[in-house]
Amino acid sequence: VRFPLGRSLMDRLQGRPGRVVSALNGVTLELFRGETLGVVGESGCGKSTLARALVRLNTPSSGTILHEGRDIFVRPEISYHRRVQMMFQDPHSSLNPRMTCGQILAEALTVHRMCNPDRVPARIAELLELVRLPQDAAGKLPHQFSGGQRQRIAIARALSVEPEILVADELVSALDVSVQAQVVNLLLDLQQRLGLTILFVAHDLRLVRHVSNRVAVIYLGRIVEIGDSESVFRMPVHPYSRALLSAAPSLNPDERGKADRLQGELPSPLNIPSGCPFHLRCPLATERCKLERPALRPVAGRGEVACHLSEEIANAQ
Ligand code: SF4
Ligand code: MG
Repeated sequence: VRFPLGRSLMDRLQGRPGRVVSALNGVTLELFRGETLGVVGESGCGKSTLARALVRLNTPSSGTILHEGRDIFVRPEISYHRRVQMMFQDPHSSLNPRMTCGQILAEALTVHRMCNPDRVPARIAELLELVRLPQDAAGKLPHQFSGGQRQRIAIARALSVEPEILVADELVSALDVSVQAQVVNLLLDLQQRLGLTILFVAHDLRLVRHVSNRVAVIYLGRIVEIGDSESVFRMPVHPYSRALLSAAPSLNPDERGKADRLQGELPSPLNIPSGCPFHLRCPLATERCKLERPALRPVAGRGEVACHLSEEIANAQ
């Protein structure tokens, strides 16, 4: 899949109009039922573009996204917009400040005709209980809640339409660490109970490790490594993953400072380096890396990695 850059990023980069720039390029990715797929990478790498594409807020310039075999941009399944729900970082902007929590939930239930009108109050009560909010929350406005409670309302609203896939883009990034854990654990609990599939985009690597079954590492709009979360976090293969993951404070002293530090600046998406897009920052780069773009390939006993030296690196670990 290939995506044009979002307008905000385009403005920030002062891109010249008419030039085709991709925020994501050649990304091929599967999301399996019931899993949590974490997506990590530096800011501006295309994580949000990917997340927004799943709910059709961004349209790819080429490529397809299939849901149960149907292209979501061409001929989506009729209830696609209900079955895939997105939750955002900032509930201030995603919750209408003039509607009570009860009205917000009632609106979602009504628009999607989730139940008979006379069942709406009972369903709101169930949803509040599901996200562990008190019943009197229904009568309050968003500003009367804490940040963590507002995210619970956002989760309740998403769940009100009985989705199968939740897309969480920096869902808890604006919250205090202790509150983050509560909201994330609630999400994991709900996932188990309701059999949800989650795409979890976050820059907080510890959080992603905690919630994800699989993780995709994105660099300049390309997946450079994808695999089982524990394996990727414990022994990342791609030099970018190694540097990115080593930049995160580890709780395990054995893992601290093992890999290389991330050097240099993220190149502009307007000017993606030739060959391996990471070669300007890679401590292992060779002549070949400057010329030839490595494909994402399976590495024995690991996930898939886009690096010419992936076998050598994995064998040396
Ligand atoms: Fe580094 Fe070369 Fe691997 Fe790219 S292909 S990550 S430059 S070793
Ligand atoms: Mg983002």
